Amino acid sequence: MKIIPYGRQYISEEDINEVVNVLKSDWLTQGPKIAEFEKAFANYIGSKYAVAVSNGTAALHLSALALNINSGDKVITTPITFAASANCVLYCGGEVVFADIDPETYLLDIKKVRELLDSSPKGTYKGIIPVDFAGRPVNLEAFRKLADEFDCWIIEDACHAPGGYFIDSKGIRHNCGNGDFADLAIFSFHPVKHIAAGEGGMITTNNEILYHKLRNLRTHGIQQNPELRQFNHGLWYYEMQELGFNYRLTDIQAALGKSQLKRANSGLEKRREIAAIYDKNFSDKSYIIKQTGVIPGHAYHLYVVEFKNRKSLYKYLREKNVFAQVHYIPTHLMPYYRKFGWKEGDMPNAEKYYKHCLSLPIYPTLTDEEQNYVIEKIFVFY
Ligand SMILES: *Cc1c(COP(=O)(O)O)cnc(C)c1O
Repeated sequence: MKIIPYGRQYISEEDINEVVNVLKSDWLTQGPKIAEFEKAFANYIGSKYAVAVSNGTAALHLSALALNINSGDKVITTPITFAASANCVLYCGGEVVFADIDPETYLLDIKKVRELLDSSPKGTYKGIIPVDFAGRPVNLEAFRKLADEFDCWIIEDACHAPGGYFIDSKGIRHNCGNGDFADLAIFSFHPVKHIAAGEGGMITTNNEILYHKLRNLRTHGIQQNPELRQFNHGLWYYEMQELGFNYRLTDIQAALGKSQLKRANSGLEKRREIAAIYDKNFSDKSYIIKQTGVIPGHAYHLYVVEFKNRKSLYKYLREKNVFAQVHYIPTHLMPYYRKFGWKEGDMPNAEKYYKHCLSLPIYPTLTDEEQNYVIEKIFVFY
């Protein structure tokens, strides 16, 4: 069997043609494909606005900048995520405070967040960054209520959850990143994510002020609206009003992303089918502590299983060319974060989860034969 990774991209002939068309056009970057992709993405997610950027980490950085994180500002996030969810706070001079996960959902535990907020004077914490980890949607209705009580903003890290949704207390459906509750939401188009652009990212929001701010920050802080300039020296004139970055997406990437977006729903359906097959095969196994299972609204970027004897299983599967992966090493245990005083024992639920978790292969082009092979190998191991 050839190598079966935990995730991979799916590139169609149409995707290739779209990219080639850009290469033959006048615009490799700053052309029409960016706005087309942004519009299509906002439409898919259900947000008012979308700002395309160079990657998901840039999306987090610009979000943190747009929300004015300053030196010493405290922001709460989960340790079970890619490090970038926390790093964006440090880029702006803020302080990251981790709160433990709920062992049932693996998501940031709102009770732990409330404990933190309650134990400090109001204004100590400026924001919360919940993550739709593995594709499981965060209950943002509850987080919004809590955030409002303490005047906090919310950045939803929805990198794992395009197409995911949750149902609120009134029975209304909210797509991940649609801007109903979070101030800003961010996505990544790295090839292991649902939609691949090579590299790429997106920020979605319903907030018009933040939207314009993000557009300026993406391009060096140059004011994109000519009417809002302070000066005018002539037709050549542009005006840098604040310190921004070059975090633009190229038209080549945007064309690929836009083309991929057309298959987002079918890809999601396939991910849900794969999840249901794992669920069925592992539901009665004593060597399993817990598996993700079938959850409405879950976008299944990852299918996480907590296995007994995970370390040996990982090695065995590698030898059989099944490249299942561990998501994630808790961020607070990274040497860089330990420098701030974080240590083993600080996040008991996250650390316990990390001991056993394994992400099994899940992606739209995974064949039945390949999935059966993965399951079979796990059966043989135990
Ligand atoms: C992938 C990812 C990011 C960063 O995205 P890049 O495009 O790789 O910079 C941030 N947060 C989470 C949860 C991710 O999975």
